[in-house]
Amino acid sequence: MLRLTDTKTRRHEDIAPSRGRVLTLYACGPTVYRSQHVGNLRTFVLGDLISRAGEVLHGWQTKLVQNVTDVGHLADDTGIELAGEDKMLLAAREQNRDPFEIARHYEAEFLTDCGRLNIHPADRYPRASECIELMVELIAKLIESDHAYVGDDGSVYFDARSFPSYGALSGNRLEDLRAGHRQDAADLNVGKRFHADWALWKHAGSQRQMVWDTPWGLGFPGWHVECSAMSLHFLGETFDVHTGGIDLRFPHHEDERAQSEAAVGHEVVRRWVHGEHLLAEGRKMAKSTGNVVLVDDVVARGHDPLAVRLFYLTGRYRQQMNLTWDALAGADRRLARWRTRVAEWAEAPSAPMHSATVSRVTEAFDDDLDTPTALVALGELDKDDTVAAGAKFETFAWADRLLGLDLARTVGRPRDDVSALPDGARELIDARAAARDAKDWAASDQLREQLANLGVAVTDGPDGQSWSRTDGSR
Ligand code: AMP
Ligand code: ZN
Repeated sequence: MLRLTDTKTRRHEDIAPSRGRVLTLYACGPTVYRSQHVGNLRTFVLGDLISRAGEVLHGWQTKLVQNVTDVGHLADDTGIELAGEDKMLLAAREQNRDPFEIARHYEAEFLTDCGRLNIHPADRYPRASECIELMVELIAKLIESDHAYVGDDGSVYFDARSFPSYGALSGNRLEDLRAGHRQDAADLNVGKRFHADWALWKHAGSQRQMVWDTPWGLGFPGWHVECSAMSLHFLGETFDVHTGGIDLRFPHHEDERAQSEAAVGHEVVRRWVHGEHLLAEGRKMAKSTGNVVLVDDVVARGHDPLAVRLFYLTGRYRQQMNLTWDALAGADRRLARWRTRVAEWAEAPSAPMHSATVSRVTEAFDDDLDTPTALVALGELDKDDTVAAGAKFETFAWADRLLGLDLARTVGRPRDDVSALPDGARELIDARAAARDAKDWAASDQLREQLANLGVAVTDGPDGQSWSRTDGSR
């Protein structure tokens, strides 16, 4: 049974799909006005680890939706107030570029970086700017049910006092909340009736870029309403897990919870899972702090991007981790060592997985994603001389489906480049794939020998076989 820490109950909770075998997961995504740093990516890897654990250990599929915020995330969203300027528009002005051009640029970069960290793609990446209608519908519903009102300034606000369990996620109490930014509050939220209310729709003039016409006039959406509208629309009125970084617990997720539940009349998110921050130089990695590290920086230092992923796995998701170049270099060396070992073991006669290690890794992952313990179990297997190399290979190949480290990567030759294969080799490779699927290790070994005689070396990885020419030709 997979267990994760639920921020709302503050306990380990059993995780299972509420519908059939499909785990529904919503992962708060990037705000695309700048590069995503490896701190942000740590949070995205958390969602990926949950879906991999579900798929590999429990036979579930994952339906993952991750939003792309290209409008509405204001520069000062940390307090109760939605105040300040839109992060997208600030960036557009600073760079003298169109905000949507910036958004598409960083969205593409985000997708590339997720790929470089082996984060499986989401089923959908809805963009805020393309879901305005969904948000407008939701806001209209909230006004109709008296959970929201149009303020004197033309903006629409959620009435925090209309939602009695407000604060259950973060532990905040309405009466304890006070406007954190009085100046901004006075300037920008003049129309609200209560200090803890927040804007669902911000009234704005036509001189602002990125405005839409609505029953309440021209304006743009608040950031929190985006995630309610998208999750309800794409995942339905109940879904299994919602992830994000710990900074999103309040106000973003507290407000999302209020909006969604007020709209449908019942609990929407079954489990809230938050990842702790990645630090650098002892402080939260953030653009404003000036301590960001990008995947590009890691590559520029000569490291494999997946060293970052291995580094994350050395800590638990609910612990802060401090990134250093030494730690990253260490992760890179370990990655290279394991890949070399896996390639060596791949040459040995096939053998079933080492079941004790499989159990330890399974238990560790199921126990609130205890990845450090899983790595220890694999490290011990690596060094255990009593275990056959073929068994080590199979175990690491299996574990890599959870870890996502490309441990059986062969360098330089795409698997499907069949033009470089000698006659008859393709058929033997296909036959060997079938033998492996049928767990017919004897046939699989025999076919590998036949391929070796043709000058083709095959290795096995989590996604199947890959091959290389041993005579140096392509
Ligand atoms: P943003 O692009 O700012 O909307 O952030 C995207 C995701 O990254 C959110 O889930 C944040 O909670 C998360 N995040 C931001 N900074 C960090 C950090 N230093 N470590 C881990 N996650 C972070
Ligand atoms: Zn969100």
